[in-house]
Amino acid sequence: YAVAAEVDEEPIKPPFDITYTKLLINGEFVDSASGKTFPTVDPRTEEVIANVAEGDVEDIDRAVKAARKAFDEGPWPRMSSYERSKIIHRFADLIEKNNDELAALDTLDSGKIYDQARLIEIPLVTRLFRYYGGWADKIHGMTLPVDGPYQAYTLHEPIGVVGQIIPWNFPMVMFSWKVAPALACGNTIVLKTAEQTPLSSILAGKLALEAGLPPGVLNIVSGYGPTAGAAVSKHMDVDKVAFTGSTEVGKIIMQSAAQSNLKPVTLELGGKSPFIICEDADVDQAVELSHFALFFNQGQCCCAGSRTFVHESIYDEYLEKAKDRALKRIVGDPFKSGVEQGPQVDEVQFNKVLGYIDAGQQEGARLLTGGARFGRKGYYIKPTIFADVQDAMSIAKDEIFGPVQSVTKFRTLEEVVKRANNTDYGLAAGVFTKSLDTANTLSRALRVGTVWINCYDIFDASVPFGGYKMSGVGREKGEHVLKNYLQVKAVMTPLVNPAW
Ligand code: ADP
Repeated sequence: YAVAAEVDEEPIKPPFDITYTKLLINGEFVDSASGKTFPTVDPRTEEVIANVAEGDVEDIDRAVKAARKAFDEGPWPRMSSYERSKIIHRFADLIEKNNDELAALDTLDSGKIYDQARLIEIPLVTRLFRYYGGWADKIHGMTLPVDGPYQAYTLHEPIGVVGQIIPWNFPMVMFSWKVAPALACGNTIVLKTAEQTPLSSILAGKLALEAGLPPGVLNIVSGYGPTAGAAVSKHMDVDKVAFTGSTEVGKIIMQSAAQSNLKPVTLELGGKSPFIICEDADVDQAVELSHFALFFNQGQCCCAGSRTFVHESIYDEYLEKAKDRALKRIVGDPFKSGVEQGPQVDEVQFNKVLGYIDAGQQEGARLLTGGARFGRKGYYIKPTIFADVQDAMSIAKDEIFGPVQSVTKFRTLEEVVKRANNTDYGLAAGVFTKSLDTANTLSRALRVGTVWINCYDIFDASVPFGGYKMSGVGREKGEHVLKNYLQVKAVMTPLVNPAW
């Protein structure tokens, strides 16, 4: 493996202190009701970065009360949509100004590549806020033609207090996908961040206040899932819950929502996305793109191209070149320029990924490269490739969420469509071919929310994202997400004299 930083080398320190570690409730940074804190750990060193206020049921309740008051009595939902738009734009400007610090916090907390966070992710966050700042004054109802002497129209109103629960793989990006559209629609928010990555959201909360967001509109609670997270989905005064995370927890959220107040639920869940390399593909390009599709962000992407289907005519050549590429992957300190792969987010994920590597070997897949921890310290794993993977193996069925590529061979398009769709998931797919006809045909046949043809992991504020089947409910981004955060009210009035 190409090594960028010896494991024993001193980890690079970002040039600032961690200042914001408290809960943001009602426009103030406060300790948790219990006074408890929890450690957030640097996955490079396995050492504590900071102790963060640990929110629990009581804190969620305080946050919901603040959000309720801000919704029922505060200026936010009543403000002109232009004023709301200006505040969201100011928030975007402040995110842009603090781009590098937000990126560094995400790298510290999660181990993601700093240059990727700095140059791609946080700029996308800024873009998301600008995009939804643009939507704020373009949300409106319709006048409807009806049978009878009535005037009928719809009002699109904010849904109320929105509960949002986000994961750790793209902390600030997930923050923006959730918070920006909910604000644009005029809602108030209780956001529960992931326990692995609380830091960047707290700083973003401070920026939101600086931008002029009234107190109680955006409340941010750090804490664990079964305590703080569960309290959000069960709360009787939360009007809607949006969740991104595992399919298992998604089911729990939906159950809690149904058992409490029937709050509507949107879910972005796991995936096992196929990446299909057709017979006519340029093998070198296919290797590079499928490598990126799986290994990007240490393999910790819900839409990772984690089942690589390669046409039999190019299979052997593909394997040889994919192995070379994995061996060249530069693993090391994610703050170091040129490094391609940092550590997995935490010990739990690290052990889970190593467990799947064991399972793959036991089930008889052929380990081409990798297959073990990298170094002695930090949650680093060698880029790993399994060949000859059979569809029934756990590494072909389960979401591994790590740098483990499973490669399998196919003969016909009919066969690959059937096998690609033979999963409970349906988040995304990659198709690599020179044939427009094949690309379009496969795009229709694949039961997934996103198809990337000859590209992968391209995200844009305006393009909807979400899953078929057990990969989720609803869509985020674009115009599509807005309806998650709106109620539609029908209003009818009689016409005094329909003949006029
Ligand atoms: P992962 O396994 O990738 O960590 P999870 O689905 O467990 O994904 O976590 C995603 C988010 O859901 C995190 O913010 C986590 O704290 C939260 N979470 C975990 N369990 C629950 C739960 N029972 N109820 C609500 N939120 C939860």
